[in-house]
Amino acid sequence: MTHRHPDHRSGLVLDTHELVRRAGELKQFTRIAEAPEGIGLDMIGVPPGSPIDLDLTIEAVVEGVLVTGTAEVRLGGQCARCLEELASELEVDLQELFVYPGKDDDDPDASRIEDDLIDLEPLLRDAVVLDLPFTPLCRPDCAGLCPECGANLNHDPEHGHDDAIDPRWAGLNQWTQE
Ligand SMILES: [Zn+2]
Ligand SMILES: [Zn+2]
Repeated sequence: MTHRHPDHRSGLVLDTHELVRRAGELKQFTRIAEAPEGIGLDMIGVPPGSPIDLDLTIEAVVEGVLVTGTAEVRLGGQCARCLEELASELEVDLQELFVYPGKDDDDPDASRIEDDLIDLEPLLRDAVVLDLPFTPLCRPDCAGLCPECGANLNHDPEHGHDDAIDPRWAGLNQWTQE
């Protein structure tokens, strides 16, 4: 039997112990957690160690604990057009019911309370990835790179090339016309 306990040292793990297990009990909760590894996609994601601002309401309900609120994360990545570094922020909505042990045991996808702890990381991971842009851009009108020489067209909007035919291709033209 494997034990994957929530790590109580993680800022994304909440202790529900103080929350009296009486349905209707509410607790406001704010915390700045440290981002774990691996939240995001190839091009853009949450830099590990960056701050995550959590602003949550935790409510005791009959089956468990309902967590609602927002998480604000930093994003770092690469512009899909010009390949420059980019940095931005993202606020995601979180809502999840964490069930007490023994409830919903037939539902393998249920989020659970373990040893009075709830782990927000899987929830946060899913919410962030869903909200990430498929094509991250440094700015909406990023001009991208010159297809001929790779110059960044944002830095050099007048950039262009003469239509002069490369001498090597000119030679090839002669061959094909024979
Ligand atoms: Zn760009
Ligand atoms: Zn060019």
